[in-house]
Amino acid sequence: MRKKLLLLVFVIAIILTNIALPLEAKAITLQEYENKVAEYSKELEDKNNDISISKKKLEEIRQKIAEYEKQIKQAQEESEQLQKEIDKNNAEIEKKHEESKRLIEYYQITNGENAYLEYAFGATDITDMIYRMSIVEQLTEYNDKVMKELQALIEANKQKQQELQKKQEELKELNKKLAEESNKVQGNITAMEGLVPNIKGQLSYYQQRVEYYKSVGCTSDDEIGVDCDVPKAVSGGSYANGLAGANGFVFPVSGSYRLTSNYYWNGSSGHKGLDIVQYCGAPIKAVANGRVYYVGSGKDIYGAKMVMIVHNYNGRLVFSQYAHLSGYAVSEGEDVAAGETIGYMGTSGYSTGCHLHLEMSETKGWDYPDPGNYWSYLKYIVNPYNYIPR
Ligand SMILES: [Zn+2]
Repeated sequence: MRKKLLLLVFVIAIILTNIALPLEAKAITLQEYENKVAEYSKELEDKNNDISISKKKLEEIRQKIAEYEKQIKQAQEESEQLQKEIDKNNAEIEKKHEESKRLIEYYQITNGENAYLEYAFGATDITDMIYRMSIVEQLTEYNDKVMKELQALIEANKQKQQELQKKQEELKELNKKLAEESNKVQGNITAMEGLVPNIKGQLSYYQQRVEYYKSVGCTSDDEIGVDCDVPKAVSGGSYANGLAGANGFVFPVSGSYRLTSNYYWNGSSGHKGLDIVQYCGAPIKAVANGRVYYVGSGKDIYGAKMVMIVHNYNGRLVFSQYAHLSGYAVSEGEDVAAGETIGYMGTSGYSTGCHLHLEMSETKGWDYPDPGNYWSYLKYIVNPYNYIPR
């Protein structure tokens, strides 16, 4: 599981490294932040539009389903009504059949022995008898006709019933498809709604940045950290405890220490900085004058406590990053001087013992001035010994 995860992270890292590499190493302008605000505002608006369109569509589908269900119910009721008529007509046929049977029996009797009997005895009422017999014959014929008509009616009703059943099945099939579509649309809505908080988060982040940079006097064309919001300049000079370099940079700890890992970084792999061991809780010092731009453990995937500082080195941005701290002595936005304690040596995050991991970069910090650009930042990491004294 762990191996798979690492592989996945590695693959994503390669993809991101390849697509996120900037064409030129340039500080970000306020305009770019304002563009981001516009971009995320647009994205949020689009997403909300899409959501409301989908919701409308969902409502339409639901209405259609309800309409079809009504039609199915109607067809069902009509079919039941037809069944009642079929039953009624069947009963009528049965009645007529019985009637005919009785009439025929009567006819047979009168036409049979009894008729001859009457004749034999010289019945005077023979006319009446013939008349009655003809009536019976007519009635039987009439019943036959009625029965045939009723039979035809039943057949017609049965056909209608079949048609209704077919219609019902078709409607049910349509509703099944609509239900599937409705699920799909609902799924899309849920997915889109899931993206909204993230977009809102990004938007609010960039809005806050724009607000902040404007409040410190940045204008749209200004490069952040270079033309405005400029961190304390690094200036040459000597510092206490003899650790100062000629260029105004100092070593991050005072007193004796052990170097347990050196810098060996090729832009994508190796060790990104120096591992300096002194003792747990040893004060860690800012390597130069600068401005603290990050304090926290939220950036490192292993939760290492970190302080990140941006330095203005002759108008160029240089970054120093101090990891695995046990605690902090500064807060974000604060200006610090070279040699000032910014935190304490610890073993937080992915670490096997108290040490300081000092990492330095030029132009770009982990996410300053270009937030979320960790993978492009890797390219700008430099050997801390380019700046700090050995
Ligand atoms: Zn390290």
